Amino acid sequence: MNVIEQFNKVPCFPFNSSYVDEGMDYLDMMDPFWTHQHYYPNENVNTDNKTILYYGLHNQGATCYLNSVLQVLFMTKGFREAVESHCGQDQKTADFHLKSLFKALKTSETHTKDILSILGIGNVYEQRDAAEYFENILSMVNPYVSQIFKGHLRHTMRCSEGHVTSDEPGPFWTLPLSIENPSDSNKTYSVRDGFEKFFKSSTVSEMYCDQCNEKSYSTIACKMEHHPKILTLLLKRFEFDYHSMSYTKNDCCVEVPHTLRTKNCDYELYAVVDHVGSLRGGHYTARIKSYDDHNWYVFDDSYVTQPNPQSISHMNNERSQSVYLLMYKKSRAPDQPGEEEIKKRGGIKVYGRGMEENRRRIEENKRGME
Ligand SMILES: [Zn+2]
Repeated sequence: MNVIEQFNKVPCFPFNSSYVDEGMDYLDMMDPFWTHQHYYPNENVNTDNKTILYYGLHNQGATCYLNSVLQVLFMTKGFREAVESHCGQDQKTADFHLKSLFKALKTSETHTKDILSILGIGNVYEQRDAAEYFENILSMVNPYVSQIFKGHLRHTMRCSEGHVTSDEPGPFWTLPLSIENPSDSNKTYSVRDGFEKFFKSSTVSEMYCDQCNEKSYSTIACKMEHHPKILTLLLKRFEFDYHSMSYTKNDCCVEVPHTLRTKNCDYELYAVVDHVGSLRGGHYTARIKSYDDHNWYVFDDSYVTQPNPQSISHMNNERSQSVYLLMYKKSRAPDQPGEEEIKKRGGIKVYGRGMEENRRRIEENKRGME
């Protein structure tokens, strides 16, 4: 089974009446992805029959969206070490529960009930967005722990005379890339092109400039001011469609680069969160390169498997209809300001409005559960 086939597996949550109530799309059940799959009872071994070091997470209903991001966090060395060394004993915090989970995950398959509770997730049968919960977790843990995922952008707008009319810095956890209709004949969206386009300046009309005292054409530019140690790209597959007044999924094939280069940094792909199916009725899994043995592993709820060696080569610049979140780790940074410098600038403590709102909402949910 190659890695692409692995990801075309049937979702593992049960088909029961609660899904019908949740508006599950019956068409998904007819999808070929869903019809021919099976699991092996003891898949946590590789082809040489050696025991794999990693353990799965129970699916509590339809919680694969959470399992996949938790496994990414667990398998991210700097994050795991920060959780182990900096998360305290206060049982009301996400830190405490993440630390407990990581401890359990080192020795056995485990559950996520406490994490679900601290995240305020009541209905475990409702499929949710992995990207949203990835950001929620990072917003809830202490800033020292989450900082390796945090980058800073600066959006600058200049009038046609070159006056700066707007200059907004802001932190980010994920860079959202719009999947535009691919122009090439293979109908493939290039993540590399999308990433580069994100930082290309664009022209907007009719923006007011104080100094010119009139409206004029302006240029908007976005710059990455602090490159995170871990750069996460979010492919915007789920978009609101105003015709149907609902979210639709873009299943477009994308080409995933194994490395990304910015002016100052090189990044190397080490984790992917995949999604198959629709927003409400799909299935999430994660593929992660281990920092222990440098092999790729596939995390599919309870099951951890190793793709066969031939399929690994496909992961360099692979084409995929399922990739959703892409995590790259920094491999070069010659001109990078150090963490001390960022701290001095107060960067760590700054939260964007979105993050702040997210955090407040989660905390309200949490209080509601107590
Ligand atoms: Zn001006």
